[in-house]
Amino acid sequence: MTGDHAIKIESAFSYGWRNLKLDLNEINELQRELSQALEKQIPKKPLHKDIGFGDMGITCPMCGSLIYNCYGPSLNPSYCIMCGQRLNW
Ligand SMILES: [Zn+2]
Repeated sequence: MTGDHAIKIESAFSYGWRNLKLDLNEINELQRELSQALEKQIPKKPLHKDIGFGDMGITCPMCGSLIYNCYGPSLNPSYCIMCGQRLNW
């Protein structure tokens, strides 16, 4: 979700969809983006998956990217750095 879309959605909640002068397709697209953004705020458990060559890795349940913390491997990040999914360790 871009900052511009977030502002439009916030305006829609404040002033209503009709005042944004958007067509139905644009409203549906903004609602879909809002649903995806809200879904990522619900914490999900990371997955332990085979990442190839017999190695296991911890991956994001939403996008499948490897999860690691560049500041320290013992620290579990709160969010996936690739997609923003909130994580529940
Ligand atoms: Zn992710």
